[in-house]
Amino acid sequence: MFGPEPMAELPPSPVVAKVEFDTDGIHHGFLRMPYSRDDSAWGSILTPITVARNGDGPTALLTGGNHGDEYEGPIALFDLARNLDLSQVTGRIIIVPALNYPAFRAGTRTSPIDKGNLNRSFPGRPFGQPTEKIADFVTRNLLPMGDIVLDFHSGGRTLDFLPFAAAHVLDDKQQEAACFAAVRAFGAPYSVKMLEIDAVGMFDTTAEAMGKVFVTTELGGGGTASARTAGIAKRGVTDLLRHAGILKGEPEIRETRWLDMPDDRCFTFSEIDGLMEPLVDLGDPVKQGQPIGRSWPIDRTGQEPYTYTAKMDGILVARHFPGLVKAGDCIAVLGVVD
Ligand SMILES: [Zn+2]
Repeated sequence: MFGPEPMAELPPSPVVAKVEFDTDGIHHGFLRMPYSRDDSAWGSILTPITVARNGDGPTALLTGGNHGDEYEGPIALFDLARNLDLSQVTGRIIIVPALNYPAFRAGTRTSPIDKGNLNRSFPGRPFGQPTEKIADFVTRNLLPMGDIVLDFHSGGRTLDFLPFAAAHVLDDKQQEAACFAAVRAFGAPYSVKMLEIDAVGMFDTTAEAMGKVFVTTELGGGGTASARTAGIAKRGVTDLLRHAGILKGEPEIRETRWLDMPDDRCFTFSEIDGLMEPLVDLGDPVKQGQPIGRSWPIDRTGQEPYTYTAKMDGILVARHFPGLVKAGDCIAVLGVVD
């Protein structure tokens, strides 16, 4: 069976939110998901959540750790949950710094429990594996409360990105304009009209289909954060909340460069296992046909390297991070300066 079942026929989510959503104040709690296992027969997974509410107004849903090895989002959101000044809030902010909590605790992209990739598990299932249950809870319990949604990503252990916020080209042009206005307010050094390799099962796709103003990011990578990228995340989320009218004040206007990802010529995939030699670095301009990297065969000496060339003019937006690549790995992503 493929695709989401009609929501009305689904049983309620087994996840219980141990936090107040509708009372003024800053509430720290957990999303508790029953998870019976060898080392804890009636155990559960406790995912930290903070809800800040001050009167009526719009709701922002802020998530990090959708992939467990991406750190700028969790840093910005643990910080926000600790340091938020409620007197500056109008409406509600729901903060989940580490959405795929088992993956976050393991420092891995996917869950160590079920190998679930949360951002390919939406809209999820209430009776599925833990990762599907998280997606289902977000889809049916958290997303309906949200007016504006920010889901933080970075490159994780296998990619490294220029720091950008992004939204997608949508059929509903009014919704699309609202999404790109929010991307502008985030104010990352780069802002991207993003093309997905495989949009099925993504949080993004589910939120957009529900009509939400949705912003995502890619803020760095390599399985760590830097002072610069953590700062971009913290300033970005604050200014997004100001833009939404949830935090007092106007967003600070920072310079951003708009990039377009027009089609799949943006992506370059490795065709052999090898040792990657980058020929350009992140942010470098490239011309169509220009060599951007080559992969040295590593099973013997004296072999020609396999050369990868740019399929269009643009700048290098992302690269494979570890030095060794396998056939099929994404090794480079190009963006076109708008
Ligand atoms: Zn990610």
